[in-house]
Amino acid sequence: MSRALIIGAGPAGLMAGEALAQAGHDVTVAEAKPSPARKFLMAGKSGLNLTKDEGAEAFLAAYGDAAQALRPMLDAFGPRDVMAWAEGLGQPLFTGSTGRVFPKAMKASPLLRAWLARLEGQGVRLNRRWRWAGWDGETVLMDTPEGRLRLTPDATVLACGGASWARLGSDGAWAGYMPDAVSAFKTANMGFQVAWSDHMRRHFGTPVKGVALHAGAITSRGEIVISERGIEGGGIYSVSAAMREGAPLVLDLLPDLDVNTVRQRLSRPRGKDSLKNHLRKTLKLDPVKQALLMEFARPLPEDLAPVLKALPIPHQGPRPMDEAISTAGGLRFDALDKGLMLRDRPGTFAAGEMLDWEAPTGGYLLTACFATGLWAGQHAAKWLT
Ligand SMILES: Cc1cc2nc3c(=O)[nH]c(=O)nc-3n(C[C@H](O)[C@H](O)[C@H](O)COP(=O)(O)OP(=O)(O)OC[C@H]3O[C@@H](n4cnc5c(N)ncnc54)[C@H](O)[C@@H]3O)c2cc1C
Repeated sequence: MSRALIIGAGPAGLMAGEALAQAGHDVTVAEAKPSPARKFLMAGKSGLNLTKDEGAEAFLAAYGDAAQALRPMLDAFGPRDVMAWAEGLGQPLFTGSTGRVFPKAMKASPLLRAWLARLEGQGVRLNRRWRWAGWDGETVLMDTPEGRLRLTPDATVLACGGASWARLGSDGAWAGYMPDAVSAFKTANMGFQVAWSDHMRRHFGTPVKGVALHAGAITSRGEIVISERGIEGGGIYSVSAAMREGAPLVLDLLPDLDVNTVRQRLSRPRGKDSLKNHLRKTLKLDPVKQALLMEFARPLPEDLAPVLKALPIPHQGPRPMDEAISTAGGLRFDALDKGLMLRDRPGTFAAGEMLDWEAPTGGYLLTACFATGLWAGQHAAKWLT
């Protein structure tokens, strides 16, 4: 029996550990934090979106430039496999109207509990507060409550996550142990800072529903949330990569109406109605959308239709990386072989968000973490035998 070491007990690391245990190897998981999968549990706080039930090509396209590198892993373990896997852990699922798949429990904890119990049954050992501290030659350095250990596993899978939410363990410090193989981290799926006037205060925490967001070549329908710091939420995350690269954000507050229809409705006699009431009655424009219009379109032009259809939202750039849902950058695919093994370190594999890919929210992140974790684990098992 060969000894495999997994570093990082997030979804990618646990998947790799399970593949190695099923192949009959002796598996130790090293986790820096006092408990495993803290980011996974956090992901479940607002509804654990495990995957997206859509066609293979549409699904793959969400990974942009990294789609070709991820294709074999996502072909081998795609949305349907993620669903079967979660159901196999006793988690009933449901699919929302947009194809997003969630456990009925919404949270991650029941799934994680069942998974950890199954891993324990397979003989996987989980060592908490074990922090990988790089290599000394071939030797893996591990800081533990009992002091520094020098480990010589037969195979290692690195699954240390990206570089956001450091307090949950994903601090990106590992990039310093292999600087030549790593692209700089960038924020992904993040909110943007907006310097609101005082008028917007009463809308903090309010969702702006049913808008279309345009940034560069990307258009997305969704919901954004006005917060004290700026704008956040799924809608903005989907255009955040384009905005990060400098594309201005433009909101269509009435995506179901064309500009002529908007103009026509606005031209209805207003009588004694205030502009506010006129906008509400003719266009059903709710208070938060009206507030955005007043915030960014003043002085209001005579013809409001074009600005309601394309309201530019000035911002002061992305929120800090540590607040982002995920990060782009990380371990480059050209530093890895087809089995996700580091080219210059035979026997060491890598998986999950620490690899250089990005995707919008919508279940794409976890699916690629599971798929690459499984792939790295299976290839490590093959390499061992
Ligand atoms: C608020 C929030 C909501 C999210 N919601 C969703 C969602 O609904 N759907 C979705 O698909 N994705 C979601 N995500 C993203 C998803 O949680 C991550 O992409 C995923 O957890 C990454 O998995 P991973 O295993 O690669 O890394 P991580 O989950 O980050 O796990 C890495 C592990 O490695 C450990 N580690 C790091 N360095 C070391 C070291 N040196 N030694 C030992 N251990 C180390 C860390 O402590 C951590 O436990 C969300 C993220 C956040 C923050």
